Order: sequence, then C-alpha cells, then structure tokens
Amino acid sequence: MAQRADTVALRTDFSLLIDGMLEQSEQFLDVIDPALGTIFARCPAARSSQLERAVAAARRAFPAWRARSFADRAELVKRLSRELRGKQNELAELLTREQGKPLAQSVAEIDRGAAQSDGMVGIEIPVEVLADDDDKHIELRYRALGVVGIITPWNAPVNLALGPLVSALYTGNAVILKPSPYTPLTTLKLGEIMQDIFPAGVVNVLAGGDELGAEMTQHSGIDKISFTGSVATGKKVLASASATLKRVTLELGGNDPAIVMGDVDPQAVAKKIFFASFVNSGQVCMAIKRIYAHESIYEPLCAALVAEAKKAKVGNGLDSATELGPVQNKMQYDKIVGLIADTKKAGAKFLAGGDIPAGPGYFLPPTLVTDIADDSRLVQEEQFGPIVPILKFSDVEDALRRANDTRYGLSGSVWTSDVQRGAEIAARLEVGTAWVNQHRTTSAFVPFGGAKESGLGRQYSALGLKSYMEPEVVSVLKR
Ligand code: NAD
Repeated sequence: MAQRADTVALRTDFSLLIDGMLEQSEQFLDVIDPALGTIFARCPAARSSQLERAVAAARRAFPAWRARSFADRAELVKRLSRELRGKQNELAELLTREQGKPLAQSVAEIDRGAAQSDGMVGIEIPVEVLADDDDKHIELRYRALGVVGIITPWNAPVNLALGPLVSALYTGNAVILKPSPYTPLTTLKLGEIMQDIFPAGVVNVLAGGDELGAEMTQHSGIDKISFTGSVATGKKVLASASATLKRVTLELGGNDPAIVMGDVDPQAVAKKIFFASFVNSGQVCMAIKRIYAHESIYEPLCAALVAEAKKAKVGNGLDSATELGPVQNKMQYDKIVGLIADTKKAGAKFLAGGDIPAGPGYFLPPTLVTDIADDSRLVQEEQFGPIVPILKFSDVEDALRRANDTRYGLSGSVWTSDVQRGAEIAARLEVGTAWVNQHRTTSAFVPFGGAKESGLGRQYSALGLKSYMEPEVVSVLKR
C-alpha cells in the first residue's frame, strides 16, 4: 500500500482550469510517485458542479472560437507548443515523478507532443467541390462539432492529451480535458499554460476519477468524446455516448505482434525490437507485445534480446542512468506480478527476469519468456508491462494466422531484409498500422488508430482532424 511521506511536504501547487480561471475543490486526489510507492502530491478533483460550469463555459465560448479562422487558431496552438518547449524541463521532471518514465523520455514526450501539435496545425481542411457545372454547385464543408470531452490514460499523459486537444481546438471546438487520476499533474500544469493563451472557456481542464469520465460521456452538453484507454472502458464509453449519439473516437489497447523473418541480422534487429517492446516498461499501447521469430534465427535472436534485457538499467526515472522506470501504479504492478505467476505455473521458460524485486517502488525487470502456449494469458491478453513472449514459427502463413488470431488490432511489424516481401506480409496484418523494420513510428500527417477492438476512428492527419468536425453538403441549384 502507498504510504504518506510524512517528512516530505506534499506538492499542492495544482489547480483546475474552468472558464479561464484557476480553481480548487473540496475533493482531491493523492498522487503516488511509482518509484517510491509514496504520495508526493495532492491536486483538486472536480465535483459534478464544476463539470457543469466547465461545460456551460465551453458552450458559451464555442461560437466565437468556431468563427475564428484556422490560421488564427493555429497561431495560438503554436504559442502553446513554444511555451511547452520553454517549460520542458520542469514539466518533464513532474511527468517523471507522477508517471515513472526516465527523464529523457519525459523530455522526449513533451517535445514530440509539441512537434505533433505544430504538424497538425499545418494540415488544411479545405472546402471540397464535388460538382460545379452550369446547373449546380455542390460542395462538402466541415464545421466544428461543439464541445469535445477528452479522457486520457496514465502511460503518456502529455502526448495523449495533446493529440486530441490540438485536433479539437484547431478545428474550432471547445474542450473539457480530463486526465487519469493516476497522472493528473502535468495535464493540470498544461491547463495553467493554456489559461494565458486561449480565450476563457475554450479549454477547461478537470482532474477527477473514473466517475467524472463517466459523467462526461453522459453529458448532453458534450458533443464528442475522444477517449484513450483500455478496451473495457472504451466499450463503456461507447455505450454511454449512444444515449446522446455523441461522436466518439476510441484509442484503445493493443497486443502488437512483431514477425521476425529468417533473413534478418538478429543482433541488429534485437536492439530495436527490445526498445519497441520495453520502452516505458512496456506500458505503451503500440509496444511490441508478442515476438514471432523464424526458427532459423530464433536462438540467436533470443540470445541478443536477453543481452539487451540484462544490460537495461532499471531504476528511478530521475536518475540519469535509468533506461526503464517502474510500473506506473500498484494495480498494474499487481496485474503483471499475477501474470508472471500464471506464466510460471503454465511451465513457460524465463530467459530473463521473472523474479520480483523487493520494494519500495513498483519495479519489475524486463522479462522475456519462451516455450509458452498460444492460448496462454501472456499471449492472449494485453500485458501492458515489462514481460514479452518470444514464439517460434517455421512458415510465415502460420505466423500471420497466429499474429492475427486476436481481438486486438492496433499495430504490428515485420522485420526482414527483403522490404518488398516485408510490405506484402505487413499488409496482411489486421491492424491500424503495419510497419516494416520499425515499430512505433507516428507523425502528425499519418492517421493512427486501431482495427478490431483496438479502437474506433483515427487520430492525426486530415482524416483524424475531420473526425472533430461534422461534414455538411451545400448543394446549390443554379437555375
Ligand atoms: P482506463 O481505461 O482504465 O482509463 C482511461 C481513462 O478513462 C482514465 O482517465 C479514467 O479515469 C477514465 N475512465 C475510467 N472509467 C471510465 C468510464 N466508465 N467512463 C469514462 N471514463 C472512464 O485505461 P488506463 O489503464 O488508464 O490506460 C491503459 C490502457 O490505455 C491500455 O489498454 C493502453 O493500451 C491504452 N492506450 C491506448 C492508446 C492508443 O492510442 N490506442 C494509447 C495509450 C494507452
């Protein structure tokens, strides 16, 4: 259990942002530093009445915000990314304390969020002329939906807020942003920065528990929910949003396969595959979660991955030598510990990791498992932690069948020296994004999202931006 750090003063310099004003609440959230397992900060948690005021403010602010040009709104977003870069170091330290990831990766998360924000506001959403002749003129226009509720998870709170936030704002919507109760702090600081940039009511930031998220999905004053989180919660969001027929974007969990062909250099690919599996201690929606290795390179690939696992420095993210931080919260830590126990019980072989270190903090070493059945929990479920199975195949058709034999469909990758063949195999993965010789590469210009139960809709690119807008046809009869 988490304990109060009695000797160290709690950080309490956090506020909600409602209608352009910073506010407190009589309710609060205690935030745990996962490297220590102790509470280090306390922030306000919004009451229902505060959500009501935020929605009312957003509705009031929406018409004037929608009326501004894309160029005007882009300027304000660019100011936000400049401010983020200016405050990168202090924000990154807070992000590491609440989330656990190494400081360099917190800096990279903020930097990437700022770069993607700048990229998104460079995308144009023009009026599309569908027909224009002597008789008629038909055009397809896009207009902002209204108020967008954004609900985010705890694994990359800044980046996963900025994607939907900038999409919604740039396209002319007002926003209510709610971070995970495990990692509310950096998002509240983002709110403070935005207070000075956007008109009152255009952006509101409310920390709160799961029930606040549920209230948002039910609220008739919110026109769209952009949700990033687990499949189970995503299904609840969709069900709840149906009562008001809200628009919904769901970015959910994954169980990404990597198919490693027999023609690779195992040493060379192991480094990249290890990083794509274990970055943020495996707590990445699009981390590699199953490695399918061709039998001809299976042994050397396992050995090279084990060497990477043994080298990786696990520790407090504030320590500059750390490469892998703790699991973010006790619930997730307990889940992974249970998964390790189940995997042991099933008789699988642990090539690296498998032992549970003594506390404090929610640390687990990078764990690699072989000799495990396709129907085991570790292969079937989204582990979302530092444990990955390596599975052998001899025929690529069999690898594809097993890779696709899942209800998830976020992303996947193929690793080969024959890039043409790699692209053909990748195209047969049933996913939103299939990479060749890379994994986790995203950009503001490229749509990202899940197939199957990994999501609904796409984020980023013109396709993603248009999902924050209602298409409207204007059809004119000329005579
Ligand atoms: P979660 O579903 O438990 O919580 C996500 C958010 O939803 C939190 O803010 C939470 O307070 C809120 N919430 C909980 N119950 C709710 C309800 N009934 N109605 C509305 N909101 C509710 O997810 P998590 O554990 O925070 O995040 C981990 C999951 O997120 C993993 O499955 C991961 O793969 C997924 N994820 C997906 C992407 C993507 O882009 N596809 C990115 C990151 C994480």
